[in-house]
Order: sequence, then structure tokens, then C-alpha cells
Amino acid sequence: MAVTQSQVLEALRRVKGPDLDGNIVDLGLVSDVLLKDGRAYFSITIDPKRANELEPLRKAAETVVAEIPGVEGVAAVLTAQTSGATGRSGAPPEHARVQQARAKGAAGDGGARAPAAAPSKRGAAVPGVKHIIAVASGKGGVGKSTTAVNLALGFQSIGLKAGIMDADIYGPSQPRLLGLTGKPQMQGGRLLPMQNFGIKVMSMGFLVDEGTPVVWRGPMVVSALQQMLRDVAWGKEGDELDILVIDMPPGTGDVQLSIAQQVPLSGAIIVSTPQDLALIDARKGLAMFKQVDVPILGIIENMSYFLCPKCGERSEIFGHGGARDEAAKLDVPFLGGIPLHMDIRAKSDSGQPITATAPDSLHAGIFRDLAAKAWAEMNSAAGNRIAPPRLEPGAAKDSLKVSFEDGAIYDLSAEMLRVMSPSAEVQGHSPDQRVTVAGKRNVKIKELEPVGNYAVRIIFDDGHSTGLYAWSYFKLLGEEKNKRWAQYLRELDEKGLKRG
Ligand code: ADP
Repeated sequence: MAVTQSQVLEALRRVKGPDLDGNIVDLGLVSDVLLKDGRAYFSITIDPKRANELEPLRKAAETVVAEIPGVEGVAAVLTAQTSGATGRSGAPPEHARVQQARAKGAAGDGGARAPAAAPSKRGAAVPGVKHIIAVASGKGGVGKSTTAVNLALGFQSIGLKAGIMDADIYGPSQPRLLGLTGKPQMQGGRLLPMQNFGIKVMSMGFLVDEGTPVVWRGPMVVSALQQMLRDVAWGKEGDELDILVIDMPPGTGDVQLSIAQQVPLSGAIIVSTPQDLALIDARKGLAMFKQVDVPILGIIENMSYFLCPKCGERSEIFGHGGARDEAAKLDVPFLGGIPLHMDIRAKSDSGQPITATAPDSLHAGIFRDLAAKAWAEMNSAAGNRIAPPRLEPGAAKDSLKVSFEDGAIYDLSAEMLRVMSPSAEVQGHSPDQRVTVAGKRNVKIKELEPVGNYAVRIIFDDGHSTGLYAWSYFKLLGEEKNKRWAQYLRELDEKGLKRG
């Protein structure tokens, strides 16, 4: 039987407080308990001056929880309490940036905290990355990691260079979700990210052996993450990642707040399930990012409804519209819902994320739409919102005139749009897998299907329909029209193919 939070708390009541009075639970020192795959994670708030002295308390807490039948691993961390967070003699060394975050008001895990002042200046840009967004959740198990990886793949399938950083140090899942094993190589003093399905990936899971319980103190976590973020060769100059997705640790404690404060985030996405409880947690997540002035790109409702794998019927098992209504009340965008579906789970668990491996599936389409919407929200939050261009297919349907509000007008041939479709079918999973589509000289645009106010799906008369063209992709194609076309012709030539 699955271990419950109350079992864990009950066991922890056997651990006496720092001054041997009462127990750590009733003294209010234990954070929310996170249970994941039989492992228990929690933090104990202490005065940082006493960190060394209280190490036995931490060990005792791990021991009593490890004794609960069904618990396969425990990680307890000591975190600093709000008051007395200065004068840290005797405490483990803390990273300078964490000290700054603390000075600005960051406080203990889980509990009440003094409002943090918004940082006047966020950390320096991360080399090789243009934009970073955080995918967060108020609690574990809502499908945050699954959503994060499929979003990263969704960004890729709308023509962006994407990567993912797994900051979920308590239970890194990106290596498994992306079917990656092994260790990253070093080159020129930097770590080379691992890569699969065309996205670059870094995870603590690559650096720490699986199955080893990792015991991190909050400050260590944050400096390790900073290093993981900045010492990785994400992309060379001119070949930077357009977007790096950070799969955040679940919850809204000290570690999460420090990441939100110190990483130059262009925005955050909150993943929630429809149940009320999760929404309350999601609200905490929203508040955390708002506190440090990170734009909220929106809420995604995961396991939003049940899609019967046999008959395709949609059942609103948790009621309908919870997250959408909540988003409206909180005045943040609702990005959309993801169904609860066996295929999503099976594909995730076997390291074959659905957006990459079943690009034609309904689910892949949903993740692509979510990515396009999040990208549009991010650009508009950054003041770079691209207003929907006017789209006019030529009379013979063999071209598309795209007129942007800023005056830029691009005439793109149907053939070019078709052979450079941002869909995974054409782009493959990496530049070297990209398919050179031939024989499309006479292809026509059959239909334009608007997707929100940020993209359009083009349906061609040869049946191709999975390309989701975000406005920024049209801009890119327009601006690089001659260069890209010349490169396409060269590729055809090299491969002995014809335009038809
Ligand atoms: P978190 O990162 O929030 O802890 P995960 O992404 O690890 O959550 O998801 C928890 C479990 O739920 C995983 O086994 C995953 O495959 C499954 N899951 C997530 N989203 C869905 C979904 N929409 N449909 C079916 N299973 C899902």
C-alpha cells in the first residue's frame, strides 16, 4: 500500500525538537512532505547557526521515516529559518547569490515567509540561451515533468531551438522521460548537454547515480543548479537555444524561490490538476513568481479530462473548467488542458515522449498548441508581442502573403512553406535528421486553420497538416527567405532529388 503523508508525519513525531522539547512536527519545523515513487522528501527548519550541531536530528528524522514499511528512500534537508538568518557562523558555507536572496527576504521552506522584495536585477544572462522559462507546480505528482518535456519538444516543433534543464533535484525524471543514460562529457571546461529527439538536456540525474538518496541542503542545491545552468555549453554564439525549459522542483519553498529570484527567467508556467487542492497549491506557485516579478505565462491544467482510449469519449471526471476559472479570477492566461491518457503515461515511462514519437497524435497537437501559446505569451510579456499578421493565399493557392503590422510583408511560396514545415515529420528530431522534402513544386495551400492568435495550421493539398506556423516562424522564414531557399536547392542537388 502506498505510504501516506500522515504516516510520515506520525513517524516524525518521534523526533525531538532542537532543544529536546516537544517534537519536530508539532513545533512546526517540518515542511510539506513530498512522496514520489516510494521516496519521501521533506525539510526541517532550523537556525542555520546550529546546522552542524543538528545533523544528528536530520539523521534521526531520516531513520524513523525509512523504517516505515513501503518507504524506499528518504531525503531530509535542513533549511534556514526566517529569523536569525544572519550571522551564519558554524553553518555550512552558503553561496553568495543565496545570501543575497536571503538578504532580500527569502525564507524557510513551506512555512509562512516575509514577502521577498523583487530583485532589482536578475542574474546575468545564461551563455548560449536566449530565453529561459520555468515549468513549476505547487506540489509533486501533477505531471509537471511530463508537461515540461513535451512543451520543450512542442517548442522545437514550432521551429525553435529548445532545451530542458531538470532542476528537480529531489527526483530528477528527465533522463528517464527522454530515454537518456550515461554521463555528459566535458569540453573546454564546460559540460556538453546530453541530447535526444533534437533537444539539449541537462539533469542532476546524469551527475548523481540513480538510487542514491541525494541529501542537499537548500543553499547547496541552488549553487549546484546555478552551476548546472551556467557551466553547460547550451549553444555557440549564433547558434543559441531559443528557449530553455526549466523543470522546477515541485513546491514553493526556499529552493524554488531562490531559483525564481536568481535565474533570468522570461516567464513561468504553472502546471496544476483540476482538483481544488492542487489549485490552492498552484496559487502558491503563482504568488511566488509574482513576488519576484517573473511574468506568469499561464496555467496548464494536466489530467484535465479523461479520454477513453477505446472510444475516444471525453469524460470530465474532475468537473470542468476549474483551472480555467481560477486563471480568469487570478488574471493570468489559461494555456489549455491536457487529457489524462494512457498513451501519455506509457510513452513517458518508456522514454519516448509523445510529442516527439507520435507527432500526428492528438496529444502531440495539444502540446504543440500549448508551446505556441506559451511562446506568444512570453514574447508579449517581453514587450515583443507579434500582432497577428494578415494572411492572404494567392489566387492559385500556391503562395501566401504574410503582412505584419510593423510593415514587413513576405510572399512565401506554398512549396517553401511545405518543405520547411516546422512539423517533426519534416524537421526530424535533430538538424542532421531533417528530411529533405522533394517533389512539391506544385503543392497548394488547401486551408488555413487559425490556432489562437499566435499561429496558424496550414493544411496542404498533399495531406500534410501537422505544421503549426507561429508568427515568429513566418518572420524567420521571411527574413531568411533567400538564404533558406538556396540551402534547400543545394540539399536537393546533393541528394539527387527534384522539385518535381
Ligand atoms: P511531477 O513532475 O509533477 O511529479 P510527472 O510528470 O512525473 O509529475 O508525472 C507523474 C506520473 O503521471 C507519471 O507516471 C506520468 O507518466 C503520469 N502522467 C502525467 N501526465 C499525465 C497525463 N496527462 N496522462 C496520463 N498520465 C500522466
